[in-house]
Amino acid sequence: MNTQQRRNKKQQLISLYESYCWWCGEYVPLNQLTIEHLLPKSLGGSNSFENLRPACLYCNRSRGNSLYPPGWIKGKCFLDKPDFY
Ligand SMILES: [Zn+2]
Repeated sequence: MNTQQRRNKKQQLISLYESYCWWCGEYVPLNQLTIEHLLPKSLGGSNSFENLRPACLYCNRSRGNSLYPPGWIKGKCFLDKPDFY
């Protein structure tokens, strides 16, 4: 994907999802918007639109190649805490 194609993809993503981070819901200026792969490329994710979402740099970085949303920590779900009930 060259720079021009990447820019076009961004524009199309914004027209689909607007300029908000898919994960944290924050408004992201175009120059800070990154293209997030729902299924990471390293795990066979494609560059098709079903697999792409706009995300802020922070969420994109913190998620890395995980299959889970950023901030998701195995075994730390609040529903597992006994004092939740
Ligand atoms: Zn975000």
